[in-house]
Amino acid sequence: MKIHIDTAKCAGHAQCAANGPDVYELDDVGYALPFDGEVPPHLEQQARLGADACPERAITIED
Ligand code: SF4
Repeated sequence: MKIHIDTAKCAGHAQCAANGPDVYELDDVGYALPFDGEVPPHLEQQARLGADACPERAITIED
């Protein structure tokens, strides 16, 4: 599984990191840090939860 974060859409709600703390990282003001790549299998559930929780739909998942 791969995820892509569209940082242009990110509005700093921090819901991704709240729901996927081992996948998503935030900067000092709560915006998601860019991430574009493969998610290890044991973190896939967190990746999905975080993406589903993003109010801006800024996170895309590719299976
Ligand atoms: S939940 Fe969405 S809008 Fe909020 S920090 Fe994460 S990517 Fe950005």
